[in-house]
Amino acid sequence: PVNRTPEMQEERLKLPILAEEQAIMEAVAEHPIVIVCGETGSGKTTQVPQFLYEAGYSSEDSIIGVTEPRRVAAIAMSQRVAKEMNLSHRVVSYQIRYEGNVTEETRIKFMTDGVLLKEIQKDFLLLKYKVVIIDEAHERSVYTDILLGLLSRIVALRAKRRLPLKLLIMSATLRVEDFTQNQRLFTTPPPVIKVESRQFPVTVHFNKRTPLDDYSGECFRKVCKIHRLLPAGGILVFLTGQAEVHALCRRLRKAFPIRCSQPQEKEEDSAEGMRRFKKSRTRARKAQALALPQINLDNYSVLPAGEGDEDREAEMDDEEEALGSDLDLDLGDSEANEGEQPDASLPLHVLPLYSLLAPEKQAQVFNPPPEGTRLCVVATNVAETSLTIPGIKYVVDCGKVKKRYYDRVTGVSSFRVTWVSQASADQRAGRAGRTEPGHCYRLYSSAVFGDFEQFPPPEITRRPVEDLVLQMKALSIEKVINFPFPTPPSVEALAAAEELLIALGALQAPPKQERMKNLQVSQLSCPITALGRTMSTFPVAPRYAKMLALSQQHGCLPYTIAIVAAMTVRELFEELDRPAASEKELAELKGRRARVAQIKRTWAGQGASLKLGDLMVLLGAVGACEYAGCSPQFCHANGLRYKAMLEIRRLRGQLTTAVNAVCPEAGLFLDPKMQPPTESQVTYLRQIMAAGLGDHLARRVQSEDLLDPKWKNAYKKTPLLDDPVFIHPSSVLFKELPEFVVYQEIVETTKMYMKGVSTVEVQWIP
Ligand code: ADP
Ligand code: MG
Repeated sequence: PVNRTPEMQEERLKLPILAEEQAIMEAVAEHPIVIVCGETGSGKTTQVPQFLYEAGYSSEDSIIGVTEPRRVAAIAMSQRVAKEMNLSHRVVSYQIRYEGNVTEETRIKFMTDGVLLKEIQKDFLLLKYKVVIIDEAHERSVYTDILLGLLSRIVALRAKRRLPLKLLIMSATLRVEDFTQNQRLFTTPPPVIKVESRQFPVTVHFNKRTPLDDYSGECFRKVCKIHRLLPAGGILVFLTGQAEVHALCRRLRKAFPIRCSQPQEKEEDSAEGMRRFKKSRTRARKAQALALPQINLDNYSVLPAGEGDEDREAEMDDEEEALGSDLDLDLGDSEANEGEQPDASLPLHVLPLYSLLAPEKQAQVFNPPPEGTRLCVVATNVAETSLTIPGIKYVVDCGKVKKRYYDRVTGVSSFRVTWVSQASADQRAGRAGRTEPGHCYRLYSSAVFGDFEQFPPPEITRRPVEDLVLQMKALSIEKVINFPFPTPPSVEALAAAEELLIALGALQAPPKQERMKNLQVSQLSCPITALGRTMSTFPVAPRYAKMLALSQQHGCLPYTIAIVAAMTVRELFEELDRPAASEKELAELKGRRARVAQIKRTWAGQGASLKLGDLMVLLGAVGACEYAGCSPQFCHANGLRYKAMLEIRRLRGQLTTAVNAVCPEAGLFLDPKMQPPTESQVTYLRQIMAAGLGDHLARRVQSEDLLDPKWKNAYKKTPLLDDPVFIHPSSVLFKELPEFVVYQEIVETTKMYMKGVSTVEVQWIP
């Protein structure tokens, strides 16, 4: 029995899904798989787990699992449901990549979809669960899609064993044909229960004109207008990225201040930390060996034993975070241009909301704003469907979303801000009508809206899939091509993944002849190797997993772990290339840029260590930051993003555990005073890096091509790219221009830039 407070009970009764409780529970009783569709805010996420709990779908040894594509939602929803049910978080708990509060008593467990995928690797039948709810299925995250494919089989297997598992799929949009009309996925189409939306009407206002680029400025002006002229009610603004969100928050707080004191940031121990790090490095350099070292490319020493016990999860959150550079237009203080005076008579309670914001800060949006202020939440896409913020009456939608795009052939990625889909725009508008009739201001014209795609394409069709293929092979799904994907990735993408995994030694190469045939008939079915199995237990991309597998030689593991963690987290450095709004800001930015460039050179060092290039910088940054206790002050002083450094620390911990699990004799631990690598270790590291990035090789363009200015300082990556690629100016190898390099990735901005560049020596055999 659940003891809800009367207030909570009353609030619940207002939710449209309450009217469907019986229909849903009957469908669940009669069918193994049920789809629940209903507008965002209708109560799916918070109520359906409660229905199931009350109907007895959980016991001591089999619980209710709910997956969310975002960490934000997993945490927030577990807390909300615990509160509504008047139960402790020991009973209604969450698990995300690095943390959780699951206990023996847990009956309802919210988790990210990556966490559940990892659990399937340990227990394919998911015997711990009586019900699995795949929430926000409309988001079509890669892991959600894979889970649906796997669960369609798991449900059948559990039925055979007479231990039935119930699967609920919950979606905000009514586009469920991908699930219901896909015979390979679900042979019997599951019943769909539609929840009537008790949505208040939302009046949509289109702009007459569509601003060319300054949509942030347009958002600012619109919020000012709403706040000055329109009746009470919260404002929710949709922007594309974290930097934009912060910039707009700053600007709005300045325009409509609330009196309060801001804590001062300190800048102390950073200089001391640097000095000590440099000193210890000099010492290590002096002690270094000089022989010409060679890594043994056949020595993986990490033995395949059991499975690691860490979560693997590539989250949308990480991606969004990585979107940092280039496209983030910082508004800075440009309101000065518009001659606006701060107006303290109209306080505005401005809160940011994005995936990587600390959970306690995210939770603030659910609290009522201080007396006499209006709530204004400036959010990225997370507020579109995952979270419902109470009291929103006005939505300001810039109409854009930032996404990472991959070139299907070359793997070159770029971050682009593009128009959202019509479905997304309607979702955003819907956020305004939860508690009373609302208004949505679209900062684009209705003609532009008419040209939007109807739905966003599923993520799985938009990115490389080598990590998924490796995971699936580790689950003994050899013919990935036959896997019941809700929407399958392209055959080229699957073939490219298989090729890469064969090259990394993670899959067995078929005999050559057959291999040709294989690719032609698209029967991609190479089995996994022992190495591949080990690699699959490391929660990083296969290339990086290969590096880890090679590194138990010459004491390289701690360094590889640090570099791999830094490459996985991405964008360690703050974005300093943004346009400045004032002379003062420009001067400050310039100063910081020069300082960071200097620090990078210090971290890269000279001679052998410089050859490891940007990867040495990553290692230096991680080492120095850890040495200084990973403080926000140190990060700020050195141009590092504090959040990224914390993330790296956690990932290093996770990788250390994962490596110890397959290779206990490594006896690894996280050493906060990690000594810099010796000169020979640096050489080994370059070989290890090249082993993972072997196909990311580029050669400096030779003199014959240099007459054309477009080839100045260019590199050529063969055979896939005809166009020149370049070392990014922020690279420590920008001035060195080594003949051969490997790179972490190519990102296209104004040019095609290689990022994370390291020097390799290639024996050129023509
Ligand atoms: P759905 O999953 O259908 O989008 P939810 O179950 O997430 O809907 O939300 C239902 C309602 O519960 C929302 O309209 C919102 O008002 C309320 N709600 C959800 N989370 C919170 C929270 N943390 N604090 C206050 N109210 C919340
Ligand atoms: Mg929901």
